[in-house]
This record gives sequence, structure tokens and C-alpha cells, in this order.
Amino acid sequence: MTAPVIHWFRHDLRLADNPALSAAVASGAPLIAVFILDETTPGAWAPGAASRWWLHGSLAALDRTLRRRGGALTLRRGPALEALMKIVRETGARQVTFTRGYGPHAAPQEAAIAEELGRDGVACRRFGGALLFEPEAVATKDGRPFRVFTPFHKATRALEISAPVPAPAAIHPPSRAPDSDVLDDWALLPTKPDWSGGLRESWNPGEEAAKTRLEAFLSDAMERYGTDRDHPGTAGTSRLAPHLHFGEIGPRQCWHRIRHAMDAGGGRDVGAAAFLRELVWREFSTHLLHHWPSLPDRPFRDDFERFPWRDDDASRAAWQRGQTGYPIVDAGMRELWHTGWMHNRVRMVAASFLIKHLLIPWQRGEAWFWDTLVDADLANNAANWQWVAGCGADAAPYFRIFNPVLQGQKFDADGAYVRRWVPELSKLPDKFIHQPWAAPAAILAAAEVSLGDTYPQPIVDHAAARQRALAAVAQIRASSGGGTEPRSTCL
Ligand code: FAD
Repeated sequence: MTAPVIHWFRHDLRLADNPALSAAVASGAPLIAVFILDETTPGAWAPGAASRWWLHGSLAALDRTLRRRGGALTLRRGPALEALMKIVRETGARQVTFTRGYGPHAAPQEAAIAEELGRDGVACRRFGGALLFEPEAVATKDGRPFRVFTPFHKATRALEISAPVPAPAAIHPPSRAPDSDVLDDWALLPTKPDWSGGLRESWNPGEEAAKTRLEAFLSDAMERYGTDRDHPGTAGTSRLAPHLHFGEIGPRQCWHRIRHAMDAGGGRDVGAAAFLRELVWREFSTHLLHHWPSLPDRPFRDDFERFPWRDDDASRAAWQRGQTGYPIVDAGMRELWHTGWMHNRVRMVAASFLIKHLLIPWQRGEAWFWDTLVDADLANNAANWQWVAGCGADAAPYFRIFNPVLQGQKFDADGAYVRRWVPELSKLPDKFIHQPWAAPAAILAAAEVSLGDTYPQPIVDHAAARQRALAAVAQIRASSGGGTEPRSTCL
């Protein structure tokens, strides 16, 4: 009897373009498909509440897909090494395949597993598949990792992106399937209270749904992506981020599908090119995390360790609940709470508001997003929070302070986004929808808005908050020997 092979599913919850799974199937041995819920690694970022909700749906979908091809998903709880060794002992498997990870604990964990299993004569085979380019393949001329996006992007242009591999047509299970935990027993879904109604309305986890979403993006939004992607009131982006994060679709699948559509249209599709560039931003974040594992916890720029942050629980709570009195910020925070997702433009404005208007450490915002985003991704979340804070590798300058009123007027000119998520302001005319405090009393009354009652007054004054933020950055620059006063830009 041939000894089985284990494919250890991690952030690769798909059958198509999964080189590690394909190699396991190609070995000809009976396949044991395993997912291990490992929440035991000290210091690791355990999945947040919205991610746990997604994971439940994604595992259920993966099991259904495997069963349609003759297999099934075995669920076990971690530590991963112990769980894998136990399955090896139970089944006599001689091989384990998996897709490599890039977080701070991934490489040491993978090395320890390979070593331990190797001692028992079990071969561990590690594959790529989560990225377009492995971190080792993109480096500066002197072999160092890039810190800045533009040269990184340029360097990737010279690299080939191989074609995705098809899903295995059939899966041969072992004669006796190993015992599996019951997914419901993992309690990944919220119960009391069940806050996930908005997530259920908005999302459909799983590989099939990911493919459907990519096709919908291609037919409905890609052409206008270059401009619409900045307008939160339109469905102008792909919403593929959670599917990509959980590996329900691979970046190579997206890349080649979009390139194919571009070629069919003569190769001049501005929207498609802009989308491919965003996929490279995703690569860049992961490369940063791979090379600088402290990215989620510590500022990339050391001088920000001395930043005079404020601990202000009341303001932080107002930000989390969408009660800051700045409509575009509140709309974003409420969209996040309801759907587990927030539009990228509004993420930037809301993050900037927390960091610069409230002087609350970026790590607090990062942790809130981690818990509430269905696409919470260690690399993308950390890199983007650091970018907004101005302390990242390739960051927006700290003195660039988003003006939430101007941002709203520019990117949500008719107020459609604010009206949807802050319905108590929906009757205000466009002119005042992003600054209700500027509306004359008669207009507020006609719109049934009572500031401080039906909707909050701004919790900080923009001009004063901006000055305070600039003074704070001047303080760290002075203490680090920088001298010149930062130039203020208001966007
Ligand atoms: P699209 O516009 O359709 O983009 C396609 C894909 O490109 C995305 O799915 C994503 O994988 C990638 N991408 C797009 N923008 C970025 C970016 N700025 N950085 C890295 N990759 C990008 N993205 C996450 O996936 N997880 C996070 O936890 C996360 N946290 C963020 C926190 C802040 C403060 C900010 C400003 C941005 C964050 N982003 C994060 C990046 C971006 O907002 C989301 O990727 C995007 O909004 C997801 O929606 P979409 O799939 O429709 O994106």
C-alpha cells in the first residue's frame, strides 16, 4: 500500500494554481488534506474576529470543493508541528507539502517542521504560490531588499510570471480518512451577540466566489478602475483582497487573467494596468514584512519611537464607532464595522485622522483594522499604516495631513458614500455633507440634523489638530538632529 502524502493547507485555501497541492497529487500517493488552526505561537498575531468569520466560510467551501473531487478536509488544532507529527504517526504519511509563508514566524516554523519530520524520514516540500515574485528574486544591484516601491516595481518588470497551474482533476483519498475536528466546534463564528449579519450580506468566502468576483470586476469595473478606484461611492474596485489574503485565488491567476483581457483589448487598458500595479503593492508589502519582521510592531524609521503620542481612549472610541463628527471618517469606520471592509481612499483618510488629528499611535489603528477587516493581512496592514503615519519604508511624508473635508469633497463630491453610511446626514445638501458644522441653522433644521444630538460636533478642530501634529513631528526631528521645519501640505 502506498504511504499517503499530506498537503498542509495554510493561506492557500484553493485547488487551482496551488503548486504545493499539485505536487502532492502528482506524487500519486493518497492525499490527506489538512488545515491546522494554530493559535499557539507566542507573539504571533492570531486572526481577528472578522478573519475568523471568513476562515470558517473558506474552510467549509474548501471541504466542499475537495469532496467534489473525491477528497475531504481534515481539521486539527495546533501547534502545527505537533498536529502534523500526530497525523504522520496515525497515517504513515512519508511526505508533507505546503505553501511557504512570509510572516515573522513563518520561516522558523517551517524550518523546525522540516527538521523534526525529516528526523522521522518524512520529506517536507515547500512551494511558492502566494506571491508573484519570491522575495529572494527581487533585490537591488548590491543584493539588498528594496525599501522604495518605484524601483521595486521597475525591478519586477524584468521578471517573468509563470502561468498558473490548473486544479487537480481528481483527488485520491487514503482508504481510511484521519479523524477530523468539527468546524463548528472551533467557534470561529460569533454567537452572542452575532454581529456578522453585514458580513454575510457582503461576502461569500471560497475559491468559486473568488473567481466569480474576479470575472465581475473584469466585466463591470476594470475599464474605469484607473479613476473609479478613488471614489468610495462607486463599486470601483475588485474587492478581491480577502480572497487573496486567504489564498482562495492566487495573484498569478489574477495577473494572467487581467493580462489576457488587456491583450484582447489591444494592451492599452489603463484600468487594467493600474490594477496590476496594486497587485505589485501587495508584493512590496510582503517583501517588506519578509525582510523586516518587526514591521507590524515597530516603526520602520527609528525616530518615530520618540513620537509624542497621546493615549486618548474617548477619542479612539469615537473613531472606532464612527462618531468623530467628520462625515467621511465616520462613513468609513461604519462601513468597516458593518461589512468588514473599507474603501482604500477612506482607509487612508481614516488612518490619517487617527494618527495625525488625534495623535493616537498607528499601532492602535492597525490593531482595530486587524480585528475588523475581512482582508486583515499582516503585511498589507502594517505597511499601509506605516505609510500613512509617515514612519514606513516608503511612506507618505509625515507633514502630509489629509484634510477630511477636502478629501470628502474631492472623492465623494455628491456625498453618496456619506449618505449611505451616515444616514442621519442624508438630507443635507452636497455643499454641507462633508462639513455639517458649516451649514446655516435653517439648512440643518430642514435636513433634521441637530449637531451634538443627532450627529456629533467634530471631536477636534482640523486647523488646530494640524498645527499640533506638525509641532509633534518638529519635536522628533529636532531631537534627532533634523533641523528644518517641515513643509505643510494639506490634501
Ligand atoms: P483593489 O483596489 O481592487 O486592489 C486589488 C488588490 O491589490 C487588493 O485586493 C490588494 O490585494 C492589493 N492592494 C491594493 N491596494 C493595496 C495597498 N495599498 N497595499 C497593498 N496591497 C494593495 N489591504 C489588505 O489586503 N489588507 C489589509 O489589512 C490592509 N490594511 C490597510 C490599512 C490601511 C491604513 C490602508 C490605507 C490600506 C490597507 N490595505 C490593506 C490596502 C488596501 O486598502 C486594500 O488592499 C484594498 O482596499 C482592498 O480592496 P480591493 O480588493 O477592492 O482592492
